[in-house]
Parts: sequence; C-alpha cells; structure tokens
Amino acid sequence: MEKRFYYAPTTGRLDDKSMPTHWEHTVPAYRNAPHVWNVGGQDNVAVFLLDTGEGLILIDTGLNAETCYLVIERIWESGHDPRDIKKILLTHWHGDHSCNARVLQEISGAEIWLSREDEVEHKKHEGKVGYPKMIEGRRTMTWVDADTEEAKLSGKRADYPYEVTNFYDDDKPIVMGRFTIRTKLCPGHTPGVTSFFFEDTDEETGKTYKVALHGGLGVNPMMRPEQLAYEGYPESMAHQFVKDCYELAKLPVDIALSSHLNQANILPNIPKDPNDYSVFVADYAWADVLINRADAVKEFYPDVYPEVKKG
Ligand SMILES: [Zn+2]
Ligand SMILES: [Zn+2]
Repeated sequence: MEKRFYYAPTTGRLDDKSMPTHWEHTVPAYRNAPHVWNVGGQDNVAVFLLDTGEGLILIDTGLNAETCYLVIERIWESGHDPRDIKKILLTHWHGDHSCNARVLQEISGAEIWLSREDEVEHKKHEGKVGYPKMIEGRRTMTWVDADTEEAKLSGKRADYPYEVTNFYDDDKPIVMGRFTIRTKLCPGHTPGVTSFFFEDTDEETGKTYKVALHGGLGVNPMMRPEQLAYEGYPESMAHQFVKDCYELAKLPVDIALSSHLNQANILPNIPKDPNDYSVFVADYAWADVLINRADAVKEFYPDVYPEVKKG
C-alpha cells in the first residue's frame, strides 16, 4: 500500500517570505475526524476544532495575527459558531500556535490552557519577538525585546498578550461532551509541549477512532545542541523527546492530527469533499512520523547515537 502520510519537506508553505501574498496559501476548512475540523485556514499551522456537542474546543489558534480572520471564517465554514468556543488548548507557547488566543477569547470568553512548564516560557518570552539569526554559522532562533532597534529591523512585532486560565494535569483528562481528552507532557520542541489523545465516534457508521496529536515535532533548530544551549535548556530534553517518540509510537492511533501540515504531508491529501475524513484514517502515520522525528534528532548527537548515520 502506498503511504500518503509521512514527514514532508517544508517548501511552499506560508512563511515570512510569502506573507505579503498569504491569500495564495489558504486552505478550506476540512474534517479530520468525525467531530474534528482543521480551521487554521492556511497551509502551515493547523487549528483543530473539536465539536464536543456541549460547546467547542480549539487546539491552537493560528499562524499569526494577519491570518486570524481565516480561522474565524473557517469556523463558520465548518458549520460552527466561534462564540461557542469554551476551551482553547495550546500545544505549546510558541506564537505560531498561541498568537490568536487573546482575540478568540475576546470573542468567546473561552478558557486558555497551557502546561505549567510552558507558562514559564510564555512569561519569559512575553513582549519579545523571535527570529532566526546565524550564530557561529548555525541558524538559531533568537529572542529580543520588541521595542529594540534590532526587533524593529526584523519587521516582527510581539504577539497580543494572553493570560493562561488553566493548566494541564496529565492524570486528569479534560472531559467535555463526547470527548475525554488525555494529555501528555512531551518536552523537546519546548519544555512544555503537550500532546493530546482521545476517541471519536462516527454516529453514522458506529466506528470509533483513536485520535492523537503530538504537540511539538519541530526538531530543527529546536533540538540542536546549540539551540538548547542558547535557550538555557538541558540537552537531556532532546534525549527525552527521542525516548518519548519511540514510546508513544507504540500506541495504536487511527487518525494522527498534524500541528504543522507538512509534518504528515497533509496538503496534497485534503479531500475535495471537506466532510470526508476517511482519507485521514491511516494507522501507520502516527508511528512513522514520530520515529522519523526521533531519528532526525539522533543525527544532532552522533556521540550519543553512534548507530545513526548522518542522512
Ligand atoms: Zn513551536
Ligand atoms: Zn509551530
């Protein structure tokens, strides 16, 4: 069987360079599981809407403020009302996932959830802008105060501030309507990346699917030794990520959600019928992508993982 879903290169996505024409990078709202839609509206970062039957849950909030209107539009397009959002669950604190939390909370009054570990990072980086800079020949994500000359020259501005109202407890699932969502802290991409696991039943077919979303699979530059050193994070965080990926890959998952669309080659597979989620039922995708990402991190640490040849 040909595998449609795999870790794909990032070329052609909406990025800083293509921002002036971001409308060329829109994607429609589409159903990803029986009661789950991607309402991100662009081809880079997903925003997952879960219709619990007792209000809406959003996982992440969109790529940037400029494309927030797409999120709101796609929520309507999927047959839902943005004012019904009750909980906003953030995978991690980075701006391309959290940037519109405040705006969407203003519309809906929703709670904003994050891990305690990433709340520390959120506070530490508040009012700063992040952009990649070459340090000792390596592309490194750096953070500077938004009101500095350097930040102004970068053309970036700080995200709207938001207040976290709830913290995840991995021993206590989030229960709302038809969903019981288990969380798992998965440090690596940030110290507080959170992954989500739940079941979703299609009432029409009676089938139940195991659905999972890993909250942070970006490894380059985040898990390179230089980047960890720049952030002041221990190298053990990268090794924990590798270990967790292998462990999590053993879990049976029918539908793997991807927080960045390239992370499972989603773009070419968006169905013409936006309600037909059946294409996303692929029991190999979760394990394949996780192991691919763990192996990519191993290449950064040849002394620790001598068995991995540089690809
Ligand atoms: Zn991130
Ligand atoms: Zn991201």
